[in-house]
Amino acid sequence: MKRIIIIGGGIAGLSAGIYAQQHGFESVIYEKHSLVGGQCTGWDRKGYHVDGCIHWLTGTKPGTGIYEIWKNTGALDGIDIIQLDNFGTFELGGYTIILWKDLDRLEKDFIKLSPEDTPAIKELIQDIRTAQTMDMPTELPTDMMPVKDLIKFMMSIRKAGSVMSRTGKISCSEYAKRFQHPALQKLFINCMPEGYSIAAFLFSMATFSSGNGAIPKGGSREMALRMEKRYKDLGGKVITRVSAEEIIIENDCATAVSFSDGTTVKADYIIAACDTKVSFDKLLKGKFNDKKFEMRYNNPTDYTLPSCVQLAYGIAADLKDYPTSLYLESEPYRVGATEFKSVGIKNYSYEPSFAPEGHAVILSLIDQTDPDYFYWEKLSPDKEAYRKEKQRIADLIQQKIEKRFPELIGKITQLDVTTPMTYRRYTNAYHGAWMSFMMTPKSKYMMHSGKIRGLKNCFLTGQWLEPPGGLPTAVVTGKFTILRICKKEKML
Ligand SMILES: Cc1cc2nc3c(=O)[nH]c(=O)nc-3n(C[C@H](O)[C@H](O)[C@H](O)COP(=O)(O)OP(=O)(O)OC[C@H]3O[C@@H](n4cnc5c(N)ncnc54)[C@H](O)[C@@H]3O)c2cc1C
Repeated sequence: MKRIIIIGGGIAGLSAGIYAQQHGFESVIYEKHSLVGGQCTGWDRKGYHVDGCIHWLTGTKPGTGIYEIWKNTGALDGIDIIQLDNFGTFELGGYTIILWKDLDRLEKDFIKLSPEDTPAIKELIQDIRTAQTMDMPTELPTDMMPVKDLIKFMMSIRKAGSVMSRTGKISCSEYAKRFQHPALQKLFINCMPEGYSIAAFLFSMATFSSGNGAIPKGGSREMALRMEKRYKDLGGKVITRVSAEEIIIENDCATAVSFSDGTTVKADYIIAACDTKVSFDKLLKGKFNDKKFEMRYNNPTDYTLPSCVQLAYGIAADLKDYPTSLYLESEPYRVGATEFKSVGIKNYSYEPSFAPEGHAVILSLIDQTDPDYFYWEKLSPDKEAYRKEKQRIADLIQQKIEKRFPELIGKITQLDVTTPMTYRRYTNAYHGAWMSFMMTPKSKYMMHSGKIRGLKNCFLTGQWLEPPGGLPTAVVTGKFTILRICKKEKML
């Protein structure tokens, strides 16, 4: 039986492990942290649970290809799917805009707010509907598809593809100019983090409104643990708290991996399911390069890396009647190297198990990019200064929450602050990135096979192969990497 070492127990590593076992390989996952899941995780603080990942999971709709993969990997085993009725509530200059899941309702509300914007609103809704037909290959990667399947697939996404190519080059602020109403203009400027193209919003709304972007009950950590269970039930082995240090190469073949505990383990195939930059620079000692990745790493303006500062609060109040996802304008404030004029608040009341009875958890997520990362990287060696800055931000956002909801004064407990350094420390994420390269007007789409030129039996997998990344990319690429190995073994 051929042996596969998988470096990294995130969603991609777990997916690769499950498909490896199902295809008759012997596989072992090595994870540097004490727990699998990677960025798809959560943690307990002061009697509350902080969910560190899933805002929505693409592939929750039965009948879709990704749903079948989640099902096969045990991710959705025996749990309910939470379908929220709106994508977010925006309070902008005295107006409240709710992005309803129901597109008819959304269109009606928008036109009621701004009849003069009717043509632009109708085009927006039509684009979202067309974007709903977008799909990603889930049976085979495109380069392994028989020609007739490839043609069929390309035809199936032709219309959505044209929305992508038309809107992918338009920034959110440029798009906002199509609307006359000031609140709608503000909505489109602020609907996505600074720098994203409007396509990111249209396609997120498409996934959400089609019912294919919902939340598996129990949240991120539980989902990763269900996948670990599926993997172990299939005979897979997980070794935690061990970091891969080097992939050992002999005659263009990866023969073994050396680990932080001093062991060296041989394998027939090695899958690097960890951050790609870590794989190239640390595990492969800079001996191999890849033009597609180099071009992106060397151009952080067009290929922005998203990260975040996340503040978690426990609330001694029932927030069931409060918005699930609220966006507020605010006085300017600085986080990292960036000035912000808004605050986002996410209310987890739809998950009663995350808080004691009658209580709730809320999170505020502040977008960060490369300049912010460098700010935090410089600050963090001074532990006291780092701690104080996190405290300053936690206090500041708490004040903003209290200003909007004065009834919560005295009921808020600060639980946690994470920064880009947290993501780097726990998962080795390059520049603390929480997804892969952002969709910006200047970025080009990439679909990477994960093959490393000059190396026969070592593959990259995970969210970095198909920016902008995310959980569906992680789970699908994990599967595809095993199918590539099957092809090499002439099993397909
Ligand atoms: C706050 C936040 C919110 C998010 N929200 C969403 C969302 O709503 N929807 C969505 O689709 N996605 C979301 N994401 C993104 C999603 O979490 C990631 O895209 C996905 O989890 C990436 O999976 P991965 O397996 O490719 O990589 P990772 O999760 O980074 O897994 C890599 C694993 O490798 C391990 N590792 C690294 N180096 C080594 C080494 N040398 N040796 C051993 N192990 C190593 C790491 O510890 C990690 O466990 C969010 C992420 C964050 C942080």
